[in-house]
Amino acid sequence: MEIHKKVKYEEELDSGFVDEIKEMSRCEEIDECIQCGTCSSSCPMAVYMDYTPRKIIAMIKSGFKDEALRSFTIWLCPSCYTCQVRCPSKIKITDVMYALKRKAIEEKVYPSRFAIPVLDRQMSRLIAKYGRNSEMWLILNLYLKSRNPFGLFKMAPLGLKLMKTGRMSLKKESIKDRKQLGALLKAIKEDTR
Ligand code: SF4
Ligand code: SF4
Repeated sequence: MEIHKKVKYEEELDSGFVDEIKEMSRCEEIDECIQCGTCSSSCPMAVYMDYTPRKIIAMIKSGFKDEALRSFTIWLCPSCYTCQVRCPSKIKITDVMYALKRKAIEEKVYPSRFAIPVLDRQMSRLIAKYGRNSEMWLILNLYLKSRNPFGLFKMAPLGLKLMKTGRMSLKKESIKDRKQLGALLKAIKEDTR
């Protein structure tokens, strides 16, 4: 049995992490958190998370960068905004979750085979390239990239039924002016830095 150190010493923490997050769009008020726990007690997904929203905010402030970015919590958050509207300190917790997701992708530290980040990335890629999401290709990529090709066999009967009724197609949907979309996405990226 391998024995792991459970305690993290102060010099191992990243004290600049909180400033990195504060610089991201709508994350400026993190310092105002009073650790009241309203976010965690309101969150419908908290029971499934490895760290509750309150803990995530505390981890950012204390420099637990690696733990926050590698957590499943940020991917389990479906952006319902309940925590955000109830926070007495007006912290935009949902946007903080988005910021952590973006950072985890940038730094390639997200759980690479976990279905939610894979789905997120594949959907963003399809939309960035074609301006539309093609469900069939999204599902194919999801199972292949999360290294679960056998899941495709289970879904095959449903996929065939949807294809027969015209609800799904192998054809990739695309908008006409993809160049304009590229310019728009570039502008958004620059604006959210
Ligand atoms: S509700 Fe707001 S102030 Fe309270 S713990 Fe959550 S983030 Fe902090
Ligand atoms: S936005 Fe995310 S973290 Fe906030 S309550 Fe909803 S699921 Fe929980």
